Amino acid sequence: MSNFLDEYALILSSCERPSRYIGDEFLSANKDFNKANVKVAFVFPDKYEIGISNFGHKILYHIVNSHPLYMADRAYAPDKDFLDLLKKYNKPLYALESKKPLNSFNFLGFALQYEMSYTTILKMLEFSNVAVFSNERKDDDPIIFAGGPCAFNPAPMSDFIDLFLIGDGEEVLIEILDLYDKIKTKTRDEILAELSQIQGVYCPKYPKKTTKRIFIPDKKSHPVKSPISHFVSVHDRATVEIRRGCGRLCRFCQSAHTNLPVRERNADDIISLACDYVKNTGYDEYSLLSLSSNDHTNIENIIEKLNKHFSGTGVNVSLPSQRADKFSIKLAQLMQQEKKSAITIAPEAGSQRMRDVINKNLTQEQILNAVLSCVRSGWDKIKFYFIIGLPFEEDEDVLAIADLIKTINYNCKKEGLRLPSITCSISVFVPKPHTPFCWHGQNSIDEIERKKQLLLSRKPEIKNAKLNFHSPRVSQLEAFFTRADKGAGRFIYKLYKNGSYLDSWEENINFELYNDIACKLGIDFSKEAVKMLNPNDISPWDIIDCGLNKDWLINEYNKAKNAQNTIPCEQKCSNCGVCSNLKMHKIYDKSII
Ligand code: SF4
Repeated sequence: MSNFLDEYALILSSCERPSRYIGDEFLSANKDFNKANVKVAFVFPDKYEIGISNFGHKILYHIVNSHPLYMADRAYAPDKDFLDLLKKYNKPLYALESKKPLNSFNFLGFALQYEMSYTTILKMLEFSNVAVFSNERKDDDPIIFAGGPCAFNPAPMSDFIDLFLIGDGEEVLIEILDLYDKIKTKTRDEILAELSQIQGVYCPKYPKKTTKRIFIPDKKSHPVKSPISHFVSVHDRATVEIRRGCGRLCRFCQSAHTNLPVRERNADDIISLACDYVKNTGYDEYSLLSLSSNDHTNIENIIEKLNKHFSGTGVNVSLPSQRADKFSIKLAQLMQQEKKSAITIAPEAGSQRMRDVINKNLTQEQILNAVLSCVRSGWDKIKFYFIIGLPFEEDEDVLAIADLIKTINYNCKKEGLRLPSITCSISVFVPKPHTPFCWHGQNSIDEIERKKQLLLSRKPEIKNAKLNFHSPRVSQLEAFFTRADKGAGRFIYKLYKNGSYLDSWEENINFELYNDIACKLGIDFSKEAVKMLNPNDISPWDIIDCGLNKDWLINEYNKAKNAQNTIPCEQKCSNCGVCSNLKMHKIYDKSII
């Protein structure tokens, strides 16, 4: 540590927020670098306060550090001022706990959470003194792996990443480290060739159809402590993952389709994990994490028991996203706390027709009942998620968002309730690989702007609602990258070379640079984003097998055209293919009566 402080003192004393770069947070694992057989640094290509909250990172960090022979450390994308200082003093990026340069690890594992962080990964490799292109790396360079939602289309990053981990990482990561430990004296190519044979590993150097890994979440693999930031992080709370996957099958949602089948954790484990996590960390809030938390079979019983356990301690529960049709008065009452945060509901679309197109399986009455239950129970803040630019959307569907809020207001007034303050986060539809909408083009920026103005024209009628729109320009880039082929690698490389960094923050994006480079390379990303693809053509992501049958996806797309619902797989299997193809089955907790 003293060597580190000597070496980096000038940088740390000159940068903003040095606490991002010093490590030694409460509950860091701090395993001995020199004693570990295999050393992994998990690298998050976004700022410290985002990365330290990432639950996927926490799981993998816990699993590797629980292994007696391996160690895991962490690194996050430094702010630009810190990078400039590293350059000025000719110092490499290092891992926070061991303070070892990142190129001294055996593996660097990048989180592929968001397409707009691709250039940040390249910059972090450069500052780690690791060749940016996989084929230029030497035997003693770390192996670069990446996993997360964007790995389901590995094509755009396949020039830079040695191994993509497809699906759940818990088991496959340990298999990789076990095998590496046995063969680490071999050449880099030999090692990659052998690692590429593990199920769930896609190696661009040895490309083959790769089937995702599925892990049945168990108690042992779930962390009950994790490093706590010296200053604020985006999610400053204990987190317990209560179920993985979502059988609602909303047609735009990639997480739902790539994480099938549903696997629920049992209530006893959830309660015990939440108690231990809060006890170990001292957090005053715990989150019950899932794609739709109140879909868990025993959600009310679990919160009831945890409420009893934490009674009088000021520890509160939060549910990140809730299904309106599963929101009950009992749940609203159970969630009554001293600190009432906003209730989050995701209707996604304002009109019933549009909710049927996207297979939301949600009626206006159910949304209304959920909101009224909350307001009657004292909640005064509601957060809604909507999407505009969805396939087969008409202007009336966009205006229906305002109509829905007006209906809520009308019913609140009728009951003599105070109008809640409503915040609507309105994103732009992005066609995602492995979903029934993957072939459908995005609306052009002009069309999205027109729809935005259309909705804003109704704003005076819904004064208690705030409408926050996601940038259509950023959404267009997301749509391009998420469906891109290998050729996009040149674009990503040129962007990085010309200064693109931390572009997951819109204020950092130089749109002119994107346009100039695309023009020079002959790439028309605006055309690619709106392009309707032919389902019968090969897509770049077809090399990844999530278990979903293509015929089923096409059928879902055709049903969307006619606004036909598919019954959620919780109620009836629609034979999407995942269970039979991957020899798995959905797992629900036994109902506690
Ligand atoms: S095969 Fe059936 S049960 Fe399994 S994930 Fe698909 S729809 Fe659900």
